[in-house]
Amino acid sequence: MAMNAETARTFYKTHVGPQEVGKVYRSGYWGELYTVLAIHYGDDEAAKAIGWRSWWAITVVGNDERVRMHCTAWDPDRDAAHPEICPCLHPRADHTADSRGHDDCPHCRCPRLDID
Ligand SMILES: [Zn+2]
Ligand SMILES: [Zn+2]
Repeated sequence: MAMNAETARTFYKTHVGPQEVGKVYRSGYWGELYTVLAIHYGDDEAAKAIGWRSWWAITVVGNDERVRMHCTAWDPDRDAAHPEICPCLHPRADHTADSRGHDDCPHCRCPRLDID
């Protein structure tokens, strides 16, 4: 059965869990933080992203700056949201207090962050 983006978005909501583009989560499986770069729904979008047929897929980047694409479902027992971490994967608290913008991260220049 082919699934268009709209149907897949609804159908795979539990697979994607609370994940949103530009936010940070910890994978229980990898044991590391990552930033969500994109979520792809439906046969066409997912195939474009990961190179094979899947009804949904997600693109993330971790601390090693490697961009990964996968279609592993969110696991509420092991995976967790980390809103206190900036998408650059450094603590928001370390960023300059008045703006909290990525450019003010003392650890990096956040080159990957043109997502929000
Ligand atoms: Zn940052
Ligand atoms: Zn940073």
